[in-house]
Amino acid sequence: MSTNQNVSGHISKEEFENQSIFPVGRPNDAFAQYFIGQSYLCPVVTEGVPVFNVTFEPGCRNNWHIHHASKGGGQTLICVAGSGWYQEEGKEAVRLNPGDSVYIAPGVKHWHGAAADSWFSHLAMEIPGEDTSNEWLEPVGDEHYSKL
Ligand code: MN
Repeated sequence: MSTNQNVSGHISKEEFENQSIFPVGRPNDAFAQYFIGQSYLCPVVTEGVPVFNVTFEPGCRNNWHIHHASKGGGQTLICVAGSGWYQEEGKEAVRLNPGDSVYIAPGVKHWHGAAADSWFSHLAMEIPGEDTSNEWLEPVGDEHYSKL
């Protein structure tokens, strides 16, 4: 994991739009049931290892979830614009700013999403593996999120 300590705090919509070099894409309707708030999805690479740009409005986050695999698998995130959070169960949440990356091992319960006051985009890559699946769990409630 890398951390860019020079960029933090509130990111306005205008700053976010200036930072982002990938389109926001369409409302992420297919996965909306697993998110609090509005997210957007844009395919960036559609062959080989697919890469998606996922954008979260301020306060938007996905539910706790697990990327399962019997071999290989997991997920890599690379923040490309704005500011957000990544958290593994039992650990402190980590702030993600442009250029920061996270490798999420298979089987690790976690969530990712925007900061309360900033738009946030990350590239997401599902790492190829065997018997891969995503298990969606409980939402990240306000009582948890508001303490970050
Ligand atoms: Mn994930």
